[in-house]
Amino acid sequence: MYDYDLLVVGSANADLVIDVERRPGAGETVLGGDLAVHPGGKGANQAVAAARLGARTALLARVGDDGHGRLLLDSLRTAGVATAGVLTGGAPTGVALITVDPSGDNSIVVSPGANGRLTPGDVRDADRLLRTSRVVSAQLEIPLETVVEVVRRLPEGGRFVLNPSPPRPLPREVLAACDPLIVNEHEAKVILGGAAAGDAPEDWARSLLAEGPRSVVVTLGAEGALVASAADADEARDGDGEGDGVEVARVAPVRVDAVDTTGAGDAFTAALAWRLGTGATLAEAAGYAARVGAAAVTRRGAQESFPTGAEVGAP
Ligand code: ADP
Repeated sequence: MYDYDLLVVGSANADLVIDVERRPGAGETVLGGDLAVHPGGKGANQAVAAARLGARTALLARVGDDGHGRLLLDSLRTAGVATAGVLTGGAPTGVALITVDPSGDNSIVVSPGANGRLTPGDVRDADRLLRTSRVVSAQLEIPLETVVEVVRRLPEGGRFVLNPSPPRPLPREVLAACDPLIVNEHEAKVILGGAAAGDAPEDWARSLLAEGPRSVVVTLGAEGALVASAADADEARDGDGEGDGVEVARVAPVRVDAVDTTGAGDAFTAALAWRLGTGATLAEAAGYAARVGAAAVTRRGAQESFPTGAEVGAP
């Protein structure tokens, strides 16, 4: 009955990268190295990451009727992502203009382009994709009203995973649908808007859970992650010392030599969303996702760094 393990609703960008000796100041021109064009955008990244792991994956996104759009469609198809939901036209393909200096610091200008034209109407037209996908994941590089429409049109029992990046305050309706909401430290702080009950990641997770999500995952880079959800009846009786009916568990970090952390969060989210759809518990799915995220940081780039299922090993 399900055609797809994962439907990603999100952005697709061309990342235009130039290495420079020094990033230009106002009114300044600097000469850089050769232009490198990489497929990117959080939606496309998550879709490629999931497909490389072996998930049957579809993407609902919008690109321009231009060369960058064709490059993105190519990279998606090569990874095995179903692209019938990748709409074309309305604006140029989204672009990130990135300059990187020798210390690795960068300056980035993003033109959302066609990503900003992915509308609630596009979601309504993709009803069949939504109904035939086990899990739906989204990010915030597309209009918020489009994400709201996804939440409203989730089929009965449908599972929704959100990585609110770039972060902004979210309506309760969206937060309540998340199972889980996946945030890093920065995203947690923006979503909470100063409402965190303390300074530790465990505190953010508890505070976020109180905002309505059914579960929360906080990613902690090289420190791994933690997962939080309402405790089941037995746990609530035994308690974890906090007595608030919330179960918080650490996901052990996977020790690797990190080369480039670009895209680690996208790979983590994709892996987690896919495994949840296969019936894994949140802790099991996050453990697998941590292995995938760790593998992604051992190679340069975003999509180029994502591991295959064989490289990660059995879930
Ligand atoms: P984001 O890119 O959204 O900020 P993180 O940097 O927290 O996300 O990375 C997502 C996940 O990838 C982490 O929770 C962790 O499991 C894994 N990861 C990231 N960086 C490293 C690292 N240096 N070593 C091992 N695992 C990492």
